[in-house]
Amino acid sequence: MDLLIFWDDRAPAGIQAALSRELEYILPLDPKVCESHFVVTGYMPARRQTNAAVLLDSLDLYKKRSGVNGPILLVVSEDLCREGDEYLFGLSRHSTGNAVVSTARLGNEYYGYPPDDGDLIDRLVKESAHEVGHLLGLAHCPYPECIMHNPLILEDIMRQKRAFCPACQAQLQRLS
Ligand SMILES: [Zn+2]
Ligand SMILES: [Zn+2]
Repeated sequence: MDLLIFWDDRAPAGIQAALSRELEYILPLDPKVCESHFVVTGYMPARRQTNAAVLLDSLDLYKKRSGVNGPILLVVSEDLCREGDEYLFGLSRHSTGNAVVSTARLGNEYYGYPPDDGDLIDRLVKESAHEVGHLLGLAHCPYPECIMHNPLILEDIMRQKRAFCPACQAQLQRLS
């Protein structure tokens, strides 16, 4: 099954192929970066953030209209949040097979360090695989090095390995 990767115009350019290649190693899907005309919605001026739940509502609608069936991963640069969450690295909706990840807090520069594409790709790969893991039916995993461990801060993502732990891997095989 294909995993369509929608790359927003404002998301960092030049790392799409790297993300797609890395995800292919981790996930039982064929990632395909494609042109998308999806317009990012959900911006909340007062918070200067984007409501990820509202954004996923629009993505659900877009998907329905365009007749796509498989999972979609949208990559944006907007800082994401949700009611009850100060910020989010990403959000997924299993019922519609749509997920969004944000690069806003994945780059070194957000934390005052020099930018590094290698670091950014590494974190984006893990966060993307995590959200797509949810789309495939996986829940959060207590093992800190597993892709499915719930990352609350950047250090959590940095601690993860680019793989599902044996338990999650086994569950993934049962699900697919
Ligand atoms: Zn999660
Ligand atoms: Zn796990």
